[in-house]
Amino acid sequence: MSMQGNIINAASPNNEVNGQINILGKDKWCKEDFELGPCLGKGKFSEVYLAREKQSGFIIALKIMQKSFLKEYGLEDQLRREILLQNGSDHPNILAIYGFFHDQNRIYLILEYAEQGDLYTLTRSFPEKRIPENLAAKYIKQTISALIFLHKNNVIHRDLKPENILLSKGDVKLGDFGLAIENNNAIKEKRQTFCGTLDYISPEMFNRKGHDFRVDIWSIGVLCYELCSGQPPFESETYDETMRRVCSGSLKFPTYFSQELKELLTKILQKNPDLRPNFEQIIQSEWFKTALD
Ligand code: ATP
Ligand code: MG
Repeated sequence: MSMQGNIINAASPNNEVNGQINILGKDKWCKEDFELGPCLGKGKFSEVYLAREKQSGFIIALKIMQKSFLKEYGLEDQLRREILLQNGSDHPNILAIYGFFHDQNRIYLILEYAEQGDLYTLTRSFPEKRIPENLAAKYIKQTISALIFLHKNNVIHRDLKPENILLSKGDVKLGDFGLAIENNNAIKEKRQTFCGTLDYISPEMFNRKGHDFRVDIWSIGVLCYELCSGQPPFESETYDETMRRVCSGSLKFPTYFSQELKELLTKILQKNPDLRPNFEQIIQSEWFKTALD
């Protein structure tokens, strides 16, 4: 997808659009092309609606962001990266983006619709507010498959959490590339930026010593813990307390966690990123062998 011009600053009288793509057979879109349904979810920066393309009847999810908000928080580059990196990521476990357009006040992303919603909501729907280990193993494995693909293509996701992992026909669709970054030079340079959701931030990010693709490996550990218990491992009342717990290296498990899960999480959630297993090693672990049996 080409991203010429500044889509946030571009004036767009008459709802003129400049999106690209796609399987909908069209490369220019406007709000009137879609019939809006209910709100599917809200994030920090956006609202997502179920929508139907009027001509084809094709169902999509429309992610809507206010230009004024993006400008106020200096998020223009971030949005540009979100569109470019998500669009460049053609993988069965990555949510597809079909196009984008804008009008006077808003920017719209046309997304693949994930009809089963996000993993956070799913986790809450279980009686004990947690997912059985065998099902969690399936979702974690598919998320890892998406991340292996991204890392091979030099992209770090940096915002893994249950709310950003969607499900369609029982399979994971990794979404929300709002914090993703191209890693071309990052492995050499190491990135200093501090970002992500507090409970998922790695020790190296808290310490601002620079971070690389291995922050996604840390987050997979946190995600796995949260899916299987309903709570992230270092959750605390305050920012400082969370940081202290993340950096302390002490990890406590609920009694019902299997031995294999405890062993795997102890290996992943290590302060020193050099000591964490890579994704291939994680998938080979005993937990996946037993949980997926
Ligand atoms: P954040 O606060 O994490 O930065 P955001 O503003 O970037 O969020 P998203 O995470 O992309 O927004 O979407 C917000 C919520 O909307 C998701 O957690 C999910 O519940 C719902 N949602 C987003 N995209 C889809 C989709 N394609 N299909 C179904 N539901 C979706
Ligand atoms: Mg989100």
